[in-house]
Amino acid sequence: MINEESVREKLKKVNYPGFSRDILSFGLVKRVLVSGNDVTVLISLATRDPAVPKTIHEGIEEALATLEGVGKVVIDFDLKDPPEPVTGNPAAAQTSIPGVKKIIAVASGKGGVGKSTVSTNLAIALSRTGAKVGLCDCDLYGPSIALMLGATDQQPLATEQNEIIPIEVQGIKAISMGFLLSEDSPVIVRGPLATRYTQQFLRQCLWGELDYLVLDLPPGTGDIQLTIVQTVSISGSVIVTTPQEVALIDARKAAAMFRKVNVPITGIVENMAWFECEHGTKYPIFGEGGGAIEAERLGVPLLAQIPLDIATRDRADRGEPIATLDPATNAISAAFAGLAEKMIAAVR
Ligand code: ADP
Repeated sequence: MINEESVREKLKKVNYPGFSRDILSFGLVKRVLVSGNDVTVLISLATRDPAVPKTIHEGIEEALATLEGVGKVVIDFDLKDPPEPVTGNPAAAQTSIPGVKKIIAVASGKGGVGKSTVSTNLAIALSRTGAKVGLCDCDLYGPSIALMLGATDQQPLATEQNEIIPIEVQGIKAISMGFLLSEDSPVIVRGPLATRYTQQFLRQCLWGELDYLVLDLPPGTGDIQLTIVQTVSISGSVIVTTPQEVALIDARKAAAMFRKVNVPITGIVENMAWFECEHGTKYPIFGEGGGAIEAERLGVPLLAQIPLDIATRDRADRGEPIATLDPATNAISAAFAGLAEKMIAAVR
């Protein structure tokens, strides 16, 4: 027999185009009506890409055709534009996080390229300009921000309404799964639950007034990343890559994901760009020029090149990020200060 439940079961088999998550768990199915053997489905979508509803339409038709005895199938779309990127219009300066003026996302196509290092140091460099800054570590599976900020012993507080109060450390506010987990506890949340946790981070944090919230996205281009960038309106984003081809291929995927959901890509940060020995010779350990080539290919600026640097790694491990040093006397802190300036200008 055809009923709402059997229809919903079938809809679970229809994935959002390009992702492994289905339209039902994404919350896109607004209504299912069954009248005799006829089925009407209402889908609510926020996209400007006409290919998305078309593909979903085809997917639903195909899935419902497998319902035994199904009659007429009507698929309606309620199409909305995705959140506007903020472009100097104060009325548009809505990030959907109360009190937060601008959100900057830091992404990478793969892990280990220094995304968290860039997020942490960017947040600190932004705060050095006098701005109020928050840092949200959205990486459930490899949270490293707590370590990098030297705050593994701190616990965020929760209010009675289950709102999370970020910790304050190194002049910024921060929240990370790393604050909620002990160092060796495994993170077992997967799939939709992981997405829900991440959304909770974004929605249930009491940030107070912030000029900038830096989101350290999980590495890769899966469902969690997609959910995050669609949950809030992002004013600017940085894609972190190392110079070699294998990393660039993944950086390209991250850029494609952002473009698909209209997240403005402010530019590329090339990390581990070279190593400079004590005699001043630069060694391009992971290759040379990859960041610039990729930036040009994407039509975005190369915002910063951060060398491979022992102090940067050592300070990250000790919870004293390099950007806490005076940019006048430390070249890497200066590079992060430059990145912060460019981000401020881009999201203004
Ligand atoms: P991701 O967030 O991309 O997984 P991390 O920021 O955690 O990467 O960096 C991975 C490791 O590399 C960390 O130990 C970090 O301290 C180190 N690292 C990152 N960038 C640099 C750099 N420019 N110089 C030296 N070590 C770095």
